[in-house]
Amino acid sequence: TSHSGNIGSAARAMKTMGLSKLYLVDPACEIDSQASALAAGATDVLGNAVIVGTVEEAIADCTLTIGTSARSRTLSWPMVEPRECGEKLVAEAVNGPVALVFGRENSGLTNEELQQSHFHLHIPTNPDYGSLNLAMAVQTVCYEVRMQFLEQDEMPEVTQAYPRVEALEQFYQHLESTLTDTGFIIRQHPGQVMTKLRRLFNRARPEENELNILRGIL
Ligand code: SAH
Repeated sequence: TSHSGNIGSAARAMKTMGLSKLYLVDPACEIDSQASALAAGATDVLGNAVIVGTVEEAIADCTLTIGTSARSRTLSWPMVEPRECGEKLVAEAVNGPVALVFGRENSGLTNEELQQSHFHLHIPTNPDYGSLNLAMAVQTVCYEVRMQFLEQDEMPEVTQAYPRVEALEQFYQHLESTLTDTGFIIRQHPGQVMTKLRRLFNRARPEENELNILRGIL
C-alpha cells in the first residue's frame, strides 16, 4: 500500500468479517495515526500485522492462495468469482493456511506476483469502470468468506495434503535449473516456458506426495 488509510480500512474490513491475519508486503507508508483512525476498533489487527519484503514470503506457508486483480492479463490463469473464492478458502482452511492477495493502489499486482497464486479473482465490476478502492476490494472478498463460513454446519473434513507455496516454489526452481542445465531452456532466451509450466502444474494442483515424485524424477 501507498496510503496508510488503506491499511487501516483493510484491517477494519477484515475484522468485521472475522479475519485477523494481515500481512503487509513492503508497504510504502507507515502504520500511522491515519491508519489507526480508519481501523477504528480494529487496531489489534494493525498491531499484529506482519511486515514482509515480498509476496513470496507472505504466502510461503500457505496451501491455497487467491490473487486479486482488476485487470485481465495476457496469459490468463484459472479464474474464480468472489462466491467461489469464499467456498474454496473456507473449505481448504482446514488443510493449512490460505491467503487472499491484494495489489498496490496505483498498479495492482505484477504478473509474477499474481502467478504465485493458484487462482485469480476478479470482482465482476462495471466493465467501463472496474477498479475498486483497495480496502473496498478487501471488504467485498472478505464478506464472501464470511458468508461461506456462516454456511458451514460443521468444520469441513481435511482432504488432500497440498504442498505449501514454499515447496512449490522450490519445485519450480528445481525444474527451471534442470531444464536450463539440459539445454531445453536457453539461458539468454528463456521465453515463456516457465510461466506456461507453472500454469500447467498450477492447474493440475499436485498433492504433496505427487510433488515429491516430480522432485525425485528431476
Ligand atoms: N490501478 C490498479 C488497480 C489497483 S486497485 C491496476 O491497474 O491494477 C488495488 C487492488 O484492489 C488491486 O490490486 C486488487 O487487489 C483490488 N481490486 C480492485 N478492483 C478489483 C476488482 N474489480 N476485482 C478484483 N480485485 C480488485
